[in-house]
Amino acid sequence: MAIDSFTVLLFGLCAKLLLGALFVVFWLKNRHALWFAWWSATLLLGSVTATLFILRKIGENFLTIGIGNAALVAAFACCWQGSRAFNLRRPLWSPVLAAPLLWLALCLVSPFMASVSFRIIASSLFVTPLVAMSAVECWWGRREQLPSRWPVIIIFSSLALVFAVRVPLVGMLPFPIGALPAQPGWLGAFNLLMFAHAILLAVLLVSMSKERLEFDQRIQALTDPLTGALNRRAFILRGERLLRRHQYERAPLCLLFLDLDRFKSLNDEFGHSAGDNVLVNFVNVVNGCIRPTDFVFRMGGEEFCCLLPHTNTEQAHRVAERIRHQFEVTPTDVAGGPVRATVSLGIASTEIFGYDIDTLTQRADMAVYAAKRQGRNQVVVSTLEGTGVASAREKIRAVV
Ligand code: GH3
Ligand code: MG
Ligand code: MG
Repeated sequence: MAIDSFTVLLFGLCAKLLLGALFVVFWLKNRHALWFAWWSATLLLGSVTATLFILRKIGENFLTIGIGNAALVAAFACCWQGSRAFNLRRPLWSPVLAAPLLWLALCLVSPFMASVSFRIIASSLFVTPLVAMSAVECWWGRREQLPSRWPVIIIFSSLALVFAVRVPLVGMLPFPIGALPAQPGWLGAFNLLMFAHAILLAVLLVSMSKERLEFDQRIQALTDPLTGALNRRAFILRGERLLRRHQYERAPLCLLFLDLDRFKSLNDEFGHSAGDNVLVNFVNVVNGCIRPTDFVFRMGGEEFCCLLPHTNTEQAHRVAERIRHQFEVTPTDVAGGPVRATVSLGIASTEIFGYDIDTLTQRADMAVYAAKRQGRNQVVVSTLEGTGVASAREKIRAVV
């Protein structure tokens, strides 16, 4: 049974119109998601092409072939801009306007319009780079790990390939790939392939946007809005996972508890917003002192935790001391001038207390209290006997 080309085109037209309208609604609901506007333009221009191709037998050549292909070229140019917008890059208007206008200018040349081969080669040369750029754009954004990104790249690439092979095969294959007379079954199969590509692509583009939204919401749920550090919820999730992994690997991990000194007085003296700036400055200092693989969490108020994977007590002590010193010498600029503050730190290591997150947190917290009692602005290591001031090597007197 031959696939009826007309029916497939009609189905494709309805699907593109519906999906195009749906993408407009998505964009109206979220004006920041500009990519939906571009992709809806792709679908709506695609439906213009489909309509004109359906009318080919009764319509003027310039209208059906000229305008129809110009709409197709514009559709793929818009698709590329949608991918740019998705990568939060500024869309380029020049290809959207220049490519279809150039095509229309070619259509005004009679020998060009009279040759199917010329038209196929030219339209493929217009469309292939535009589709390829959509694939490249999605590839460039791959650092944002969205599962639907990869099938989108594959579909864009396979579309680019379909259009690219038309150039060398123009004299060998029947229309619409080549310029030989169309065969009904073949034409229907090609249109069905394009229809499947369009539908699958539309579904995957929505899914990619949804994955981004979910990812952003997850980040928001795990991040402290003031300092950008991870929050207590993230600490519980990340902490338990990290500890399980370290226990399995029998690797050391250290937990630092950090509490800013006399922060209440600082707020009282300079104001709450100055206090906020100090907290932001503090997190910047900590981030500058730890490795990219370490984590800093805001546990609440002026209390923070750091998880230092694959770190023994001695190394953690060095990191803690670096943070303490660096914060002491890095004043925060506020309206009234630079504000200096200090921090007390407690360390608990899996080498001593094992791999239970609650025990580690409790021990590091106790060490901070010890540091406060001993005058603040210092680092205390929690030991089995209690909590001692100094490096891990000298397990000195129990304080707690
Ligand atoms: P200590 O040296 O013993 O830790 O004294 P402290 O004043 O730092 O400790 P305390 O727990 O008495 O006070 C913590 C203060 O932190 C009280 C609260 O007003 C302030 N604080 C908590 N969250 C925020 C915040 O988001 N912004 C600002 N500016 N201040 C905060
Ligand atoms: Mg506190
Ligand atoms: Mg404090």
